[in-house]
Amino acid sequence: MTDVFMNTYHRLPVVFEKGEGAWLSDINGKHYLDFTAGIAVNCLGYGYPSLVKAISAQTAKLNHVGNYFQSDVSLAFAEKLVAACASVGMRKVFLANSGAEANEGACKIARKYSLKKYGPGRHRIVTLKGSFHGRTITTLAATGQEKFHKDFGPFTEGFLFVPPGDIDALDRALDPSSVAALLIEAVQGESGIIPQDDAYITAAAAFCADRDILLMFDEIQCGVGRTGTFLACEAYGVKPDVITLAKGLSGGVPVGAVLGGEKTADVLGMGDHGSTFGGNPLAAAAGLVVLETVQQPAFLQEIRRKGEKIREILRSWNHPKITCVRGRGLMIGVDLTVEAWPVLEASLVQGLLLLSAGTHTLRFLPPYIISDNEIEQALKILYSVLPPAG
Ligand SMILES: *Cc1c(COP(=O)(O)O)cnc(C)c1O
Repeated sequence: MTDVFMNTYHRLPVVFEKGEGAWLSDINGKHYLDFTAGIAVNCLGYGYPSLVKAISAQTAKLNHVGNYFQSDVSLAFAEKLVAACASVGMRKVFLANSGAEANEGACKIARKYSLKKYGPGRHRIVTLKGSFHGRTITTLAATGQEKFHKDFGPFTEGFLFVPPGDIDALDRALDPSSVAALLIEAVQGESGIIPQDDAYITAAAAFCADRDILLMFDEIQCGVGRTGTFLACEAYGVKPDVITLAKGLSGGVPVGAVLGGEKTADVLGMGDHGSTFGGNPLAAAAGLVVLETVQQPAFLQEIRRKGEKIREILRSWNHPKITCVRGRGLMIGVDLTVEAWPVLEASLVQGLLLLSAGTHTLRFLPPYIISDNEIEQALKILYSVLPPAG
């Protein structure tokens, strides 16, 4: 492999060239069944006809306009996205290019909301241990994992972490004299596919509402249908003040979004925030197709059914190396008694792409269009590469 890239990624020895459906092929023509979807990005798989058509048509018309102007397609996308999130109270959107950038926007909203209403000193943002919120200096500071807090300091101050699931600890941490917001992943992705308990989210929402602390959901990985509802927070019956989205939102074209509700939709004013590429026509054209497709109830129902099927098959093995199978929809974590990385490397050789999350957890994020047959094929490969009992 070449030396031109900075050494930031632990790359597997494969160079992909093209994809079709849930399959990728490498430069040697070998095929791989994809249970990663480019880390929850390629939610409609590869070569999805209406997505290809929309992107091709848009690139022939207009890729980009500066944000001093509007484009028809970006406006249509923003309207459709806000409508898709209206049931949980969202009213307006700011479009960006990535997850980290969306979370940066959320933090800015939290800071300004609190400053304008309560004055300085109430700027803290509480996040959960095990969370992942991005790679910029501020979103690293927001990320509740020690391993990310080295080498790059000083970090943005004002973040504090609570253990997920501990309602008393959350109650103590959400001090209304110093805390502006709680930022939370409904289902933690990077650290092992860990859905929060209903009772925990219900309590968090009540504390936030009582104390005028903003409830902000990072749905960058678990949103856009991944868990079988358009937003993961819908399943908890809560109404956040801010939601961030990215990854799957434009099916493979870079995009990010910060959505705001009643309290937050108008916090950012003229000149407060911006992003050159944010929500450009190409990303918007792709995002429109994703929204039109994924929001359909029958489509979401299929995500739930296929996720349940995967979990059922895995549990039916009663495999001695598998200690836990969990997740929602097509966002699935499998805890192993052995390290995940060698399993993932062995499955790659057999033509199945998997992700890990933490040292001992396999993470499945297949494209939503995966078929029953492909699920069975993938799990057959996984079974064959798991170390045998004993
Ligand atoms: C991937 C991810 C991010 C960061 O997104 P980028 O597009 O890589 O900046 C933030 N939060 C969560 C939950 C993620 O999964």
